[in-house]
Amino acid sequence: MKQYYVVLRSVLQSQSHLRRCLSRCRHCRIFFLTHPRNAGRSDLGCPFGCREAHRKQRSTERSVAYYATSEGKVKRKMQNGKRAQGGVPADANPPTPAAPEFPAGMVGYVAMLASLIEGRPVSEEEIVRMLLRAMRQHSMARRRRMDYVVAQLNQQGP
Ligand SMILES: [Zn+2]
Repeated sequence: MKQYYVVLRSVLQSQSHLRRCLSRCRHCRIFFLTHPRNAGRSDLGCPFGCREAHRKQRSTERSVAYYATSEGKVKRKMQNGKRAQGGVPADANPPTPAAPEFPAGMVGYVAMLASLIEGRPVSEEEIVRMLLRAMRQHSMARRRRMDYVVAQLNQQGP
């Protein structure tokens, strides 16, 4: 967390035009950078889980309200019937490879930040590729460290 703020501060120091994008999560109070179009708003949720959690909650509330209507009840009956026959629910999205490895909203946030900082459009795919590369390097380093520890233990014997 401290590291995060160090990075955030250094970004703001070198990219002073982003200072107006500094926002605070209304749920967990963490500081983060928002898109310039949302600059100055104080009702934002952070991209580290709060925004997603509250969006999910709202959509659950919406669908609960929807299924309480008679139209919704009929539709649900149809869906349940389909499911009972072993049909695939229509809303089952095929998972994007690699994307499920990262919290939803996070990749978009990083892509947005990278675009702002680099002054060019950076796609979410690019961010996912970058994150995967970073994770591979990280796990390689960890494996090397583990190998070293195991080697040390073997040398010392029981
Ligand atoms: Zn938050």
